[in-house]
Amino acid sequence: MEIAKGKRALVVGVANDKSLAWSIARQLHEAGAEIALTYQGEVLEKRVRPLAAQIEAAVIGELDVTNDDQIAAVFGALKEKWGGLDMLVHAVAFAEREDLRDRFLNVSRKNFARTMEISAYSLVALARAAEPLMEARGGGSIVTLSYLGAVRAIPNYNVMGVAKAALEACVRYLSIDLGSKNIRVNAISAGPARTLSSSAIRDFHTMAHEVEQRSPLRRAMDVEEPAKMAVALLSDLGSGVTGQTVYVDVGYNIVGF
Ligand code: NAP
Repeated sequence: MEIAKGKRALVVGVANDKSLAWSIARQLHEAGAEIALTYQGEVLEKRVRPLAAQIEAAVIGELDVTNDDQIAAVFGALKEKWGGLDMLVHAVAFAEREDLRDRFLNVSRKNFARTMEISAYSLVALARAAEPLMEARGGGSIVTLSYLGAVRAIPNYNVMGVAKAALEACVRYLSIDLGSKNIRVNAISAGPARTLSSSAIRDFHTMAHEVEQRSPLRRAMDVEEPAKMAVALLSDLGSGVTGQTVYVDVGYNIVGF
């Protein structure tokens, strides 16, 4: 079913073929959307270009989300290419490796601010840049990716959990600001998946094992599962949903024991 046919989507956060953003981009393509991807630096450009070719996606430019000039250039290029934008996927997060394996208490002022800037503020910056392009299309939908560490204290997730809590709050406030323009904003709280980012978290495999043992579905999350939910939220199937954090974690978040 081509539920995203005729829609145009910017997907930010593809680092390699294990990235959650890549699964989302692939599924959006299968659903009929036209895709634009960004990359961060030359090394990633080399990985992103061949992936983009697989789904006939445009590589719209370099985007470090801390760089306002690059944000302006990417959205300027999208305006020129498409005149508007229907869907935005924000799948970006960063914390120093040392902060994902030490006591949370020890995080420095500098690292705390940087983690918040890249992992939470960047959603606000990208949503602001997307607003006029989505308005030009009569509305749009934005999806970001969160994790249970936003609402529970999960060993080693530390400052990233604080940033995810901020990210989920940003989703709620953005949804109020953008709702009158028919722009929806939601987060998917995904279960553990083996990616470049998650490999930095100490004892990540223990977290993943715990989910397999204790989740209601008694198995690991498949990376295609958050991607399927992203397509639903980004498309008309999610037309009544905004400001939400939707758990796609084989049910793990509801378990108390
Ligand atoms: P990933 O493949 O490593 O993707 C993370 C992306 O963020 C990378 O493309 C990375 O680029 C990018 N990034 C970091 N700093 C950036 C910056 N300053 N500007 C632009 N991009 C930047 O890992 P992933 O697991 O798919 O992560 C995607 C999202 O899902 C993240 O928000 C993550 O927290 C969330 N999530 C992941 C899991 C999981 O278990 N994997 C679970 C729940 C939620 P570089 O490689 O160049 O830094």
